[in-house]
Amino acid sequence: MSARSVVLAYHAVGPIPRSQLRNTFVPLDVFERQMDFLARRRSVVSLDELVRAPAAGGTVRVAITFDDAYRSTLTRALPVLERHRFPATVFAPTAWLGDRNRWDAAREDLELELMSDSEIVECSQRGFEVGSHGHRHVDLSRASEEEVREDLRASVERISALLGRSPRYLAYPYGRASELARKAAADAGFEEAFALEWQDEPFARSRVPIFPHDRGWRFAFKVSGRYAGLRRSRPVAAGYARLIRPLRRALSSA
Ligand SMILES: [Zn+2]
Repeated sequence: MSARSVVLAYHAVGPIPRSQLRNTFVPLDVFERQMDFLARRRSVVSLDELVRAPAAGGTVRVAITFDDAYRSTLTRALPVLERHRFPATVFAPTAWLGDRNRWDAAREDLELELMSDSEIVECSQRGFEVGSHGHRHVDLSRASEEEVREDLRASVERISALLGRSPRYLAYPYGRASELARKAAADAGFEEAFALEWQDEPFARSRVPIFPHDRGWRFAFKVSGRYAGLRRSRPVAAGYARLIRPLRRALSSA
């Protein structure tokens, strides 16, 4: 994707817990300041606009996304986004709606509630895009072809049943895609699919994950459009690997 375009990946919004999941949280006041910054300095657009219309120079375009459909996205983040009239996309792991983040038994030190079916419908009615985060939140880069296709089929079916239309976008659980998964995503009818910052190719577009410590200049840099490209450059990637490993571990449960 163009260096003038950035897709942000959030998870939960709220007080940072004592948990392995801590790096997937952004406190509400930090989130509010980040949105204020975007309102002043960036152009916030929908994923649709970012995917379909080429960047035309000028202000960096930012699209906002949330993985896992945690209830805090609806109760804490959406009111802030609505105040700014910012579009956003929620990626739901459809098998777990109305349940908790029980997909990774090894990381059950913090159970978080996901939105219910009706709350997902409410998100959509309030103008937010609902995308797929797979069905059972399995690592689609490692699953068998049959598993990947079945998981995507189930997720598309569930969202179509809830909203009356199929999801246009997919975010891979754990931010990882394989060639097989990318092909399956295209075959399942998605228009585009999103990974995280270490990948950027068709049907595995780069997103920039936002962590609790991304305040001030760190956030400004991450939404500068230069960050993701720099992260993928070889010398930086090697040095950064040591830094990013614990963050990736935290994200692997998210
Ligand atoms: Zn996830």
